[in-house]
Amino acid sequence: MAKDLLAGVDVGGTHVRLGLGSLRGGLLREAGLATAVLKDGGDAPARLLKEIAAFIGPDLDRVAALGLGLPSVVSKDRRTILQTPNIPGFDQLPLADLAEAAFPFPTFVEKDVNLLLRHDLDALGLLDRDPVLAFYIGTGLGNAIRIGGQFYTGARGAAGELGHIPVWGNGVGCGCGNTGCMEMVASGKALAAHLAQAHPDCPIGEFFPRHGDSLWAQDFVRLMSMAIATEMNILDPEAAILGGGVLQMAGFPREALVEGIRKSLRSPYPRESALLVFAAESRNPGVLGALAYARDRLGLG
Ligand SMILES: [Zn+2]
Repeated sequence: MAKDLLAGVDVGGTHVRLGLGSLRGGLLREAGLATAVLKDGGDAPARLLKEIAAFIGPDLDRVAALGLGLPSVVSKDRRTILQTPNIPGFDQLPLADLAEAAFPFPTFVEKDVNLLLRHDLDALGLLDRDPVLAFYIGTGLGNAIRIGGQFYTGARGAAGELGHIPVWGNGVGCGCGNTGCMEMVASGKALAAHLAQAHPDCPIGEFFPRHGDSLWAQDFVRLMSMAIATEMNILDPEAAILGGGVLQMAGFPREALVEGIRKSLRSPYPRESALLVFAAESRNPGVLGALAYARDRLGLG
């Protein structure tokens, strides 16, 4: 049977999203389930593979490859999940091997934010820019680095952890085991903690319209801009993508963020040269990125 389909799966902290696409791009079919479902039965990775098989169904032999994104530290060879702080059962796991034992096609595992970056390259027309950095500020502070058309992985696969750079004067413990990480003061986690403590009656979606001018909100955006500018000053990107749920909230001061970043960039480069763009607000970007990445890995351009 002709291998004329690609599968893309995005495993997130709350939802697993699945998609089937054509070799040329475009989503043909999609589905989703709660990540909590994976815990039923005890073996979360086995349940994930079962859900993927059920989703693909009778088209299993038509699939040329699976792109699979997780919010994890992934080994440099992209075969093993090293650590997944927010989803139990996905630590020290040879997930690509397990998937390839279960399915008649190769599986390409990647860090979720790298797949978001891959999708944004398509959606924003940035495929020919290099290097490209991406910053996705949601619950955590996600970061993706692309140099020479490849995701930068570091020596062991653990590069691009901008959320875990230390911030002076921050004593908050982080899920990574350290204290004082940027993610604890400049991400959705920090916003939720501040809301609970200072504005318990304010729905999170109302925070920026009601309290966007507060000193706390200004510091919050400033810290975020400092983290982003720091990495941009090190890597002198041609473009930097700004995205994630926090930046998409009503009333989020995008202009103040961009201004803060520019203010801290080295002059004249990258301050005057780097393109700063907001992420595409696509539906299902993780799945679209997984499909694009599977296409890349198969050499389909
Ligand atoms: Zn940390």
